[in-house]
Amino acid sequence: MNINVTQSFLPDFSVYQKYLKKIWRCRQLTNHGPLSLLLENKLKKIFNARHLFLVSNGTIALQIAIRALDLQGEIITTPFTYIATASSIVWEHCLPVFIDINKDTLTIDTQQIERAITPKTCAIMGVHVYGFPCDVTAIDKIAQKYNLKVIYDAAHAFGTQYRKKSITSYGNISTLSFHATKLFHTVEGGAIITNNDTVAKKISLYRTFGHIGDTYYSIGINGKNSELHAAMGLSIFPKISMIIRKRRKITKLYNSYFQGTSLVLPTPIKNTAYNYAYYPVIFPNEQLLKKALYQLHKKNIFPRRYFYPSLNTLPYLNPSRCPISESISSRILCLPLYPELSKNTAHRIASIITSSSKN
Ligand SMILES: *Cc1c(COP(=O)(O)O)cnc(C)c1O
Repeated sequence: MNINVTQSFLPDFSVYQKYLKKIWRCRQLTNHGPLSLLLENKLKKIFNARHLFLVSNGTIALQIAIRALDLQGEIITTPFTYIATASSIVWEHCLPVFIDINKDTLTIDTQQIERAITPKTCAIMGVHVYGFPCDVTAIDKIAQKYNLKVIYDAAHAFGTQYRKKSITSYGNISTLSFHATKLFHTVEGGAIITNNDTVAKKISLYRTFGHIGDTYYSIGINGKNSELHAAMGLSIFPKISMIIRKRRKITKLYNSYFQGTSLVLPTPIKNTAYNYAYYPVIFPNEQLLKKALYQLHKKNIFPRRYFYPSLNTLPYLNPSRCPISESISSRILCLPLYPELSKNTAHRIASIITSSSKN
């Protein structure tokens, strides 16, 4: 069987079935049914969020966030992320302005933000890439000084804490993805978090076509999620700490193999309680990465080149130069990491990589 960068976590079938029976009994399949509301409440508690909205995916979460903050013009962001971050900005008729990343944390280089601000800048969209927190304190300071809004794409950051608070409590809005490949998932899904009541009202409206009951207030979109998706989320919810614990264990194991090699392991900033969402390794050069990848593929092991290419190089996304992001993108690989990955397999993967990068 192939070993992929991740394996979607599946709960015991009987647990999912228990929730399905509830759906069959009450026959509400979508439109904020009891399971969606239950999941929303559970998530709201663990994120300590004033408002949390379940949505159909992490991309619509970003798009609704941009709308709810009335953003128009330029949004400062980084190119070292999944395409959805930047394409939602363009889809919402704003312009992504890419600035480079910090070479250690791989998040937005806050020292370069002020230089990129123009009269058209309306917001900063930081990405907690791999679940590594952005320097939220520095971003907050800049946002206050220039009166900018802040959205965090927290698609990878489920469970990450910064200064003992959920990383989603920073900025005006945080968005999450509950896609099947993410640490916590609802098959497809996502969430929008805010502590601002006015913004929350807009999110709620936009998520359901702009109407509540029989009154039509504004334009909107269909951002809802279904009861079947919520059932998956509820079934996985009690397993979250186990999932993070097992990921941590494999991470420590990989770390022990790569210590003292030429591979660089990026690390989150101080005061982070990490969620172990990904295991990125940086090779000295792209050639060595390709060599390792070739050896791994031969054994049916499929890490992923997250994130390649650096988005600033895509012709349809306001191209610019971001040398650090471009360089790291070409040399970084995310290794298989999921709760069911055995110690043996992790050992095998690490040995293939270390021996292929030796000569
Ligand atoms: C997965 C992801 C998204 C999009 O989430 P979907 O639920 O797949 O739409 C957005 N941003 C980042 C950084 C992601 O990794």
